[in-house]
Amino acid sequence: MGGEILVIGGGIAGLTSAVEASETGYSVVLVEKTPFLGGRVAQLNKYFPKLCPPFCGLEILYRRMRTNPKLKFFTNTEVMSISGSAGDFSVNLRIKPRFVNENCTACGKCKEVCPVEVENEYDFGLSKRKAIYLPHTMAMPFIYAIDEFKCNKCGECVKVCKYNAINLNETEKTLNLKVSAIIVATGWKPYEARKIANLGYGKFKNVVTNMEFERLASLNGPTNGKILANGNPINSIAFAQCAGSRDENHLPYCSAVCCLASLKQATYVREQYPNAKIYIFYIDIRAFGRYEDFFAKVAKEKGIELIKGKVAKVEEKDGKVLVTAEDTATGQKIHKEVDMLVLATGMQPSLAENPIAGIEVDEYGFVREKPGIIPAGVAMKPLDVMFSNETATSAALKAIQFAKR
Ligand SMILES: Cc1cc2nc3c(=O)[nH]c(=O)nc-3n(C[C@H](O)[C@H](O)[C@H](O)COP(=O)(O)OP(=O)(O)OC[C@H]3O[C@@H](n4cnc5c(N)ncnc54)[C@H](O)[C@@H]3O)c2cc1C
Repeated sequence: MGGEILVIGGGIAGLTSAVEASETGYSVVLVEKTPFLGGRVAQLNKYFPKLCPPFCGLEILYRRMRTNPKLKFFTNTEVMSISGSAGDFSVNLRIKPRFVNENCTACGKCKEVCPVEVENEYDFGLSKRKAIYLPHTMAMPFIYAIDEFKCNKCGECVKVCKYNAINLNETEKTLNLKVSAIIVATGWKPYEARKIANLGYGKFKNVVTNMEFERLASLNGPTNGKILANGNPINSIAFAQCAGSRDENHLPYCSAVCCLASLKQATYVREQYPNAKIYIFYIDIRAFGRYEDFFAKVAKEKGIELIKGKVAKVEEKDGKVLVTAEDTATGQKIHKEVDMLVLATGMQPSLAENPIAGIEVDEYGFVREKPGIIPAGVAMKPLDVMFSNETATSAALKAIQFAKR
């Protein structure tokens, strides 16, 4: 097989690069390591600053992909090795079995009979899914997948599938591609909140991360979008900014989006509970460029209190979360008792812990550009969606120049 440009990662940045490059007439192959495209954006409830649903942007890209014969994508696929140089790379891919083919109509009969229930990673373990699954109703491709590590091969799904869509004997494949340029759009994962010992994550039930909170607020999330603490409505909530970020012991850099994400999430609470008290503890609010307007608008909403002070201690009492911080404006210690605490954990590049041979990264795991290997989106640096897409478009432009030579 020959593909002139390879895009690694099927999140918003990789999809954008792939669509933009292929629409100029070059052949593009996109590889995504999970069974579905969309990346982290598919887990968000709404996008700041417009607060629109993330599937709008994704669906536009999917539509452009479907009608573009120059663009091929492989899910469940990882890069094993890269050799060669700009204009002439050789890439070895490993395609893991999905066990479900294009005959699948997503009727869901297989899911009903599957006896294996596991933690649902789409909801960060806040819900369960079956070993044969579709993460959500906007999934791309809209075909079930079998979790090879969890499936017990009982064959019940095969028996009920009327479309001959399941083959439990499918095996792993390898593929070699010759490409001129590689766009690395491998994105990020949430920083592990358990590592921040003083913030109580994993110890106290109502201490959640910002990405878990996105799922709790999502209509297709574990509580159908109802934000609840101990099963009850929220009267008060706190957000702890820079949870692990800008901290030499954790992520020394600023993740760029967490302040805006918490401001956005405060609007989720405000929408459901107009009288709830919302506290945002911050070091300094980073709302760059035109996002300043979004910050100003949310900050003056009723019941939202911004407190300049880093959360130092988190405790639990009678199902409530006790938050202690020092107000840097007054020097006073502040104590707040809230129903829920949301930790604004930062974005850690995917390649920090899962490197790809042949791709160079900096000390944090962000990809370093070199001739013919071009980062896009959060693989490059912490970015929001708009800037991820800008880097993705510019990566496409750089990549097609190598393909042309
Ligand atoms: C709490 C929170 C809320 C946010 N809310 C907003 C918001 O409202 N508005 C906004 O603009 N931004 C928001 N962001 C930022 C937004 O999530 C990112 O800008 C966006 O996810 C970047 O997309 P990406 O494609 O670079 O990375 P990702 O979304 O991480 O996609 C990367 C893809 O690459 C795949 N991948 C990883 N490694 C490999 C590999 N080795 N091989 C193949 N595939 C691989 C992954 O599976 C994934 O599908 C938020 C961030 C946080 C933390």
